[in-house]
Amino acid sequence: MSDIFSGILGQPKVRDFLRSVVSHGQIGQSYLFTGPAGSNKTLAALALSQAVICKDGGCGTCDACKRVMRRSHPDVRRYEPEGAGGYLVEQIREIVGDVSLAPIQAKSKVYIIDRADLLGVQSANAFLKTLEEPPQDVVIILLARTRESVLPTIVSRCQVVPFRHIPHTEACGIVSQNTGVSSQKAAVAIQACSGSITRAIEFVRSSERFSFRARVLEILSSLELSDDLDVLEYAAELLERAQAPLDLVRKTQEEELAASAEFMAQAAIRQVEARNKRALTARSSEYLRETNAIIRSWLRDVLMAASGRPELVINEDVADAIRSTASKTSAPQVVRALCAVDECDEAFRYNVSPETCIDVLLCQIREELYGSRSASTAAI
Ligand SMILES: [Zn+2]
Repeated sequence: MSDIFSGILGQPKVRDFLRSVVSHGQIGQSYLFTGPAGSNKTLAALALSQAVICKDGGCGTCDACKRVMRRSHPDVRRYEPEGAGGYLVEQIREIVGDVSLAPIQAKSKVYIIDRADLLGVQSANAFLKTLEEPPQDVVIILLARTRESVLPTIVSRCQVVPFRHIPHTEACGIVSQNTGVSSQKAAVAIQACSGSITRAIEFVRSSERFSFRARVLEILSSLELSDDLDVLEYAAELLERAQAPLDLVRKTQEEELAASAEFMAQAAIRQVEARNKRALTARSSEYLRETNAIIRSWLRDVLMAASGRPELVINEDVADAIRSTASKTSAPQVVRALCAVDECDEAFRYNVSPETCIDVLLCQIREELYGSRSASTAAI
């Protein structure tokens, strides 16, 4: 059966459930989707949004449906925590205010609230009334890793939909089945996309993303002989290439706004512009996280090789370079380099300039892996 829900790979129970509520016209107003990263919650939330927004109940092919999937429909809002520690109370108040406004293009609106586990007591309190009694034309979908991580006052007001963890080999199978690539290439893509099957499928289909990955790995392999200036240039290059796809997103946003602007009030146009800007920021941090995921997968492979388990290397196409790096470092050093990647992810979240973050990260990896043997210290 092919419909808007068939893309929710690896989650047959969720698919059946969503098909059933939609076909019986019983879409609820507040859902909590729970499941680990990469379990396809976001895609499921978008598919359900199509069912809510589309005039035909989710045809998957009309302009509205396509916009929902491209995350550019003005009546499907997706939020992430804007504070370093989670959702800010002001952010929730803004959402609550927005919920009471009429939809811009469709008859209904959908709010997708990512990381609902990062709703603290205060922000949750500001949200409870809306969650309990949303306006008739509003559907709210909260996403979280586990049910337990979300405040009970929130959970009790939602219908909980659990997503299963998809085992690694099954995930590779799904990606290679849907794209025709080898399971080795699928494994590489899944690593680069932090386990997300949907993004891994996009990744293997994009030659730009794949060649970006190759360049990241090349830079990592040449760190040993790089001085500080080289590293600075690498950081600038990686940032530029990591964010290159944003130009296309920006262009699509502008075209879509131009196409519908004449039917929209000034206030609605401003809303869409603000939303587009937020979507761009979110996309940009997605690409930065992807860059770090590629770096992490390479370090993981070096760790496997340094621990005497070269057969577990995933980035097989660069296995020689990985073995060569592993022979010059040790497992504890690689573990410290991996910690530096986590710190870099944190720094992105605190809005430190991405170029500085990547520059610092590459320097740290060089120091951790090669210590006093690296080019910069050798020159002193
Ligand atoms: Zn449609």
